Amino acid sequence: MKKYDVIIVGAGASGLVAAAQLVQRKKNVLIIDMGNSPARKVAISGGGKCNFTNLAADFNHYFGKNPRFVCSALARWTPNNTLNWVRAHKIAVYEKEPGRYFCKNGSEDIINALLRDIGNPDIKYNTSVKNIEKNDDKFFVQTTKGDFWAKSIIIATGGLSYPHLGVSNIGHQIAKKFGHKIEPVRPALCAIKTKSLSSELSGISLQAEITINKKKIKDDLLFTHFGIGGPVAYRATLYGGSEMTINFAPDKNVLELLKSVKKENGKRTVANILSEILPNRLARFLCDDTRHIADLRDNELKQIATKVNSFVIDDASAIGMQSAEVTFGGVSTEQISSKTMESKLCNGLYFTGEVIDITGDLGGYNLQWAFSSGFVAGLNA
Ligand SMILES: Cc1cc2nc3c(=O)[nH]c(=O)nc-3n(C[C@H](O)[C@H](O)[C@H](O)COP(=O)(O)OP(=O)(O)OC[C@H]3O[C@@H](n4cnc5c(N)ncnc54)[C@H](O)[C@@H]3O)c2cc1C
Repeated sequence: MKKYDVIIVGAGASGLVAAAQLVQRKKNVLIIDMGNSPARKVAISGGGKCNFTNLAADFNHYFGKNPRFVCSALARWTPNNTLNWVRAHKIAVYEKEPGRYFCKNGSEDIINALLRDIGNPDIKYNTSVKNIEKNDDKFFVQTTKGDFWAKSIIIATGGLSYPHLGVSNIGHQIAKKFGHKIEPVRPALCAIKTKSLSSELSGISLQAEITINKKKIKDDLLFTHFGIGGPVAYRATLYGGSEMTINFAPDKNVLELLKSVKKENGKRTVANILSEILPNRLARFLCDDTRHIADLRDNELKQIATKVNSFVIDDASAIGMQSAEVTFGGVSTEQISSKTMESKLCNGLYFTGEVIDITGDLGGYNLQWAFSSGFVAGLNA
């Protein structure tokens, strides 16, 4: 039975970055992946253009029980390190928003760079890890295609979203087996279902502000046939909870506007006034009152304004793992060293990337976390 210095479970972004460091350190490495190709989530990331980093990455852009857990790894492998690494591989990039970088020619460039960095270590595709035992100082790894020994293990098995790509919760199971706590998992960075809106709004987009769990998020919103999507909805899922309010005109005090129009031109209808600041279909969904505004009492104007500036949704739910960009929750950070990514409970066992209870905001933060945590584990395993 073959013995390795390190076995990496998962050939995603974090596993491959860890492998590159181990190869540089002349370690004998085996990478095992249940899929038939590496970094399949990188391939589809950023709509195929891979938003690989964000220069603003610091703990404020991460979620989980202890977002500060990311600080040490982000300081060891910074967003600028990622950018320089990408440039060293001569990958053409563009900055979509300040500090937010994508690949001009597509995600494949990142995957090829990751593979170039690891040279030719053993990679076993279409091989699922079923169980890991520790005997004395060695790990015994059971897979669907045979068993292997290693001195150290890196669990880089990612999250549970996009199940059709090939995902598993083996990382959580192994962590649990070695005594680690698992924070409850749920889909995040995805669209939101609600019955409070109409499917007839589907296709409308505008800038909106969502308030959820006292947090305000302003970004683009897209109505779907089942609720809302777009960056503002995706980001709202990071805060959990089924209650939120949406401000469809975040830069306008609609009550003030209605009151002043009532004074100046009482013959106009509210629907008509709203259609000047909102897409027509949305304006009519929120208020199809055809009376002259002069005929409406102030408390009626207030009710209409509240619908525009503070529309209540109390049945919001993330659409589901099948289309979530990330999995919220995972292996608790409490029992992992943030400096090395090694388990505090089991020497030689490391965790990287999305399998850990760390979730980044939309904007390149999740891949940056995968790179930084993978780098640190690769330096230490
Ligand atoms: C549609 C989509 C778009 C995204 N866009 C972006 C973006 O633009 N920017 C960004 O920062 N983030 C983005 N993300 C998130 C980002 O891709 C992930 O957070 C990141 O790839 C996680 O890396 P990882 O190495 O932790 O795990 P993964 O890349 O998920 O890799 C885990 C690997 O482990 C393997 N594995 C699991 N179980 C087993 C097992 N039992 N045996 C063997 N192998 C196993 C899997 O096959 C997989 O290859 C996106 C995600 C999705 C789904």
